[in-house]
Amino acid sequence: MARILVTGGAGFIGSAFVRHLLATSDDEVTVFDALTYAGRLENLAGVLEDPRVRFVRGDVADRDAVRAAIAGHDLVAHLAAESHVDRSLLDPDVFVRTNCVGTNVLCDEAARAGVARFLHVSTDEVYGSIPEGAADEDAPLAPSSPYSASKAGSDLLALAHHRSHGLGVVVSRSSNQFGPRQFPEKLIPLFVTTLLRGGDVPLYGDGRNVRDWLFVEDNCAALDRILRRGEVGTVYNVAGGNERTNLEVVDALLACLGLDRSRVRHVTDRPGHDRRYAITAARAAALGIGAGRAFEPALEETVRWYVDNEAWWRPLLGHVRNR
Ligand code: NAD
Repeated sequence: MARILVTGGAGFIGSAFVRHLLATSDDEVTVFDALTYAGRLENLAGVLEDPRVRFVRGDVADRDAVRAAIAGHDLVAHLAAESHVDRSLLDPDVFVRTNCVGTNVLCDEAARAGVARFLHVSTDEVYGSIPEGAADEDAPLAPSSPYSASKAGSDLLALAHHRSHGLGVVVSRSSNQFGPRQFPEKLIPLFVTTLLRGGDVPLYGDGRNVRDWLFVEDNCAALDRILRRGEVGTVYNVAGGNERTNLEVVDALLACLGLDRSRVRHVTDRPGHDRRYAITAARAAALGIGAGRAFEPALEETVRWYVDNEAWWRPLLGHVRNR
C-alpha cells in the first residue's frame, strides 16, 4: 500500500486518475486541489466517501500549504495546472504562476519530504506543431502558446529537480484527451454541449488541424504505469493512435447525434494555432503501455455521458472562456 498525493485531482483527468487508483490498487490517496473554475468537487462524487481518500484544498504555488499536505506521502502525481490554451492567450500570468512556480514548489517540497517517485504530467503540445512524422521524447521543445510554453518550462524544472536533487521524477507527455467530466470550454465538450443546446459549432480556420485523440481512462492507466514503473529522469510520450482533423472530429460528433454539417460555423483561426501534433509511442510501449481505445466508440460513450449529465455541464457554461 502506498500513499499518493494527486494534485489537480478535482479536474478532468485528475478525477479520472483518482477513480482509476481506487479501482486498481489499495493505495491511499490525498487529492490536493485549489478548486479553480476547472476543479469541481462534483467530479469526485462517490470518491470522497471512500475512507482511503482525503481532500485538501490548496494552491500548488503556496509553499506552506504544499509542505503541510505532502508530508508522509510515498508518491506524487502532479496534474494541477492551468490547462486551456485560449485562456493562456488572454491571461498568461496565472499559467506561469501555477504551471511553472507551482511545479517548482511541489518538486522542492517533494524532495524535502523524501517522496520516492514524482510523476509530472505534461502534454504533447510542448513539441509544437509537427508538420510530418512524429516527435519522440528527444525532439526539441518548440511550444507555441503561453500554455504549452509554461508546460515546457515546468517539464524542465521537474527534470532539473531530478538531476540536481535526485528527486525520482518521471514525466508523461500525453496527447489530446476526451471523456466524461471535461470542462465544456475544451473542443469536444464545447462542441457536444453546443449541439445539445441547439447551437452551431464554431470551427477554427479550415478545420484541418490534426490532433491525436486519447481516451482519458487509457491515459490514466498509462500514467499509473509511468508513475510506478517508469525509469526516473525519463520522459514518456503517451499517444492516442487516433489522428483526426478537427473536421473529422466534428463529423463524428454530428454522426453520434444524428445531425449534419449545416450545424458547423467557421470562425477565424486562433493565433499560433498548431497545425498538427503527433508523438511516437515506442518508449511507452516498452513499459507495457498498449494502444488506447479506438476513437469513434469511445467518442460515442463520451457523447452519451454528456447527454445523460446535463446537470453537470449546464451550470459550468457561465465559466466558459474562449477567445
Ligand atoms: P483541468 O483544467 O480539467 O484541471 C486542472 C485541475 O487543477 C483543476 O482541478 C484545478 O482546480 C486544479 N488547479 C489549477 N490551478 C491550481 C493551483 N494553483 N493549485 C492547485 N490546483 C490547481 O485540466 P486537465 O485537462 O484535467 O489536465 C490535467 C493535466 O494534464 C494538466 O497538467 C494538463 O496540462 C495535462 N494534460 C491535459 C491534456 C488534455 O487533453 N486535457 C493533455 C495532455 C496533458
